[in-house]
Amino acid sequence: MHRRILAPGALAAASLLLAVPASAAGHSPGAPGIGDPYYPYYGNGGYDVSHYDLRLQYQPATDELSGTATILARTTQDLSSFDLDFLLDVSEVRVNGAKAAFTTSGQHELVVTPASPLDKGTQVTVVVRYSGVPSTKSAYGFSTWHRTPDGAVAADEPESAWWWYPSNDHPLDKATYDVSVAVPDGTQVISNGLLQSSSSQRGWTRYNWRQNKPQATYLTTLAVGRFDITTSTSEGGVPVVNAYSKDLGDNDGAARASVERTGELVDWLSGYFGPYPFSSAGGYVPNTTTGYALETQSRVYYSPKQFANGSNTSVVVHELAHQWYGDDVSLKGWKDIWLNEGFARYAQWLWSEHEGEGTTQELADYVYASHPADDAFWTVRPGDPGPDDQFDIAVYDRGALAVQALRNAVGDDAFFTILKGWPKEYAYGNASVADFEAYAEKVSGKSLSGLFDAWLFEPTKPAAAALRAAGVPVQPRSWKKIEATNDVH
Ligand SMILES: [Zn+2]
Repeated sequence: MHRRILAPGALAAASLLLAVPASAAGHSPGAPGIGDPYYPYYGNGGYDVSHYDLRLQYQPATDELSGTATILARTTQDLSSFDLDFLLDVSEVRVNGAKAAFTTSGQHELVVTPASPLDKGTQVTVVVRYSGVPSTKSAYGFSTWHRTPDGAVAADEPESAWWWYPSNDHPLDKATYDVSVAVPDGTQVISNGLLQSSSSQRGWTRYNWRQNKPQATYLTTLAVGRFDITTSTSEGGVPVVNAYSKDLGDNDGAARASVERTGELVDWLSGYFGPYPFSSAGGYVPNTTTGYALETQSRVYYSPKQFANGSNTSVVVHELAHQWYGDDVSLKGWKDIWLNEGFARYAQWLWSEHEGEGTTQELADYVYASHPADDAFWTVRPGDPGPDDQFDIAVYDRGALAVQALRNAVGDDAFFTILKGWPKEYAYGNASVADFEAYAEKVSGKSLSGLFDAWLFEPTKPAAAALRAAGVPVQPRSWKKIEATNDVH
């Protein structure tokens, strides 16, 4: 149906050169990875997803998840087959309505061979019917599916999708989402965006969540459990939806005292980063035993442990800053992680200054002085840290130092223009560290390659000239709260 008509001579030449079967002349398998050197098998080649429609059912008592994923995509090459990243058990795949052959490969590849090859540049609808117990599945020896006493949570970086929906699992392929999950009455479902509706039938309640802006796969979250949900609207007009496990125990008060500040902090960050980019904001605190937080789009994931020592607005600022730096503008490759973490950490410094607990310069001076030149801290290159050091503390702290060095080099006017202009320049898209450097040079009119090289790419402690450190700085009052967020994403 989609087969190309080739002149006999051309067909013979193609067969000789490529030795492909005549039935799929010119069509080849999509790559099992999207081309990220940090994670060669993450994401896939040959297509671009525009929308995921997930219609699922989940039973907390047994951890059984089942349902259907309908994926809308466009091919970017002539395809004889293509991969999805997925771990659960697939019973049927259809491509453009017709049953497709499928098999598994590698650690997390679902290889789909459509009945007819797919031509480049065409719309494709893929339906995957599946079921399974996510907690029994692993890849590379690990699982990021978090069971809780009352349900489960999918929220992790860079991997979380494999355990609950088939995808092109890389931030380069962002898409919109409808996430519909039925759970036993009395249990709630939390996901991204806005709750469109919910209804109960025969003991099951179905929740329909919608994310109407492009979203990376790792930023798509699912939480099932017994939650108390709060809704409000920020002074600036952003709808806020937060959720708290009903079993947070002693952490309940501190969690709410932090996360209920979301609307206020979204408005405050808008002053630096521009209008909030999504249809809603918020966070949720499930009763997991994890320790981190994650910038899941429009609905931040917080571990209860983040609030074990009392409230912490600094972690809320960090994760909300990611809504612009990481979620609205997503990285092109995982080596670009500084664009996420350097700026989210710097937002914590701005909040410290706002609260009168230490200026960004005082924090920069303190971090700089805290790490002597022979500290391994300086061997981590935030501009390309390598997969093992992707979330090393240096990506955060040296990364924020780089932001302060940029500010001092270009001056406050240009710096704050860059800070606010960047999310607009690459809105809902992807960008690299090189793109940021080019943008900062364009806005400031200055050559910044020496500065970026020294602070992001050299495995040594940069000279202090770009900072204004003098003497041994005292520890800023905000430091302990910021340090307490060292485990977050
Ligand atoms: Zn972060």
